[in-house]
Amino acid sequence: MIWDAHTHLSGVPGDTPEERLTRLLEFADRMGIERLCVSMGLNWSYDPPPEDLRRQNDEVLRAVRRWPQRAFGFVYLNPNHVEVSLAELDRCVRDGPMVGVKLWVARHCNAPELDPIVRRATELKAVILQHTYVKTTGNLPGESTPMDLAQLARRHANATFICGHTGGNWEIGIRAIRDCKNVYADLCGSDPTAGYTEMAVRELGAARVLYGSDAGGRSFASQLAKVLGADIPESAKKLILGENLKRLLTPILTKKGVKV
Ligand SMILES: [Zn+2]
Repeated sequence: MIWDAHTHLSGVPGDTPEERLTRLLEFADRMGIERLCVSMGLNWSYDPPPEDLRRQNDEVLRAVRRWPQRAFGFVYLNPNHVEVSLAELDRCVRDGPMVGVKLWVARHCNAPELDPIVRRATELKAVILQHTYVKTTGNLPGESTPMDLAQLARRHANATFICGHTGGNWEIGIRAIRDCKNVYADLCGSDPTAGYTEMAVRELGAARVLYGSDAGGRSFASQLAKVLGADIPESAKKLILGENLKRLLTPILTKKGVKV
């Protein structure tokens, strides 16, 4: 059983959201990946204004409504527009089929503007996928580090966070989130370097590590290799490839009538 915690509609062939998700699922089928978490629209922007946020979320809603048992939407929010973000949470998660939140690079995630968003998401049992990176060449102005996420996670012990890309520089990222039990490491979106998954399992435990790809930005195969090629027990691979994500999403999926 393989579930992918982190995919997008960009970089996938097709003119409509439905076509793109259909193609993405064809590629997933080749690798035995059953289910995908999907966020963000056909075109991205770093700091989307309200109308662009709604457009991107509408595109994901169209895509996941075509494949309700196989693809789970994460609502894209922007903490520079808190009221709009809360309204989008209600529209897409409370009243719609989405099951998680995606936050990208508009604002550092340790900012107080995140607090009402995290509280509302947690009330709705939605998990929060926060992009994190530590770039050697310098981050974007609003781009979060895993240290920022650890600060946010300490303020919200009941919330569930996914540390997107494990900070990119995963040796720093794993250490940054190590003592935050409500933060999960997402392996997606970097080269399949030997030692990455092994260190995550050693320092966090296999129950806190999630397979994700960042497809279409990365291939499913290269990202699966991080898990399949890792020197860890078979039981740990099972947790990382699907069982952990299934456990995190089961409460909200069940609420929405999706068979898990
Ligand atoms: Zn992403």
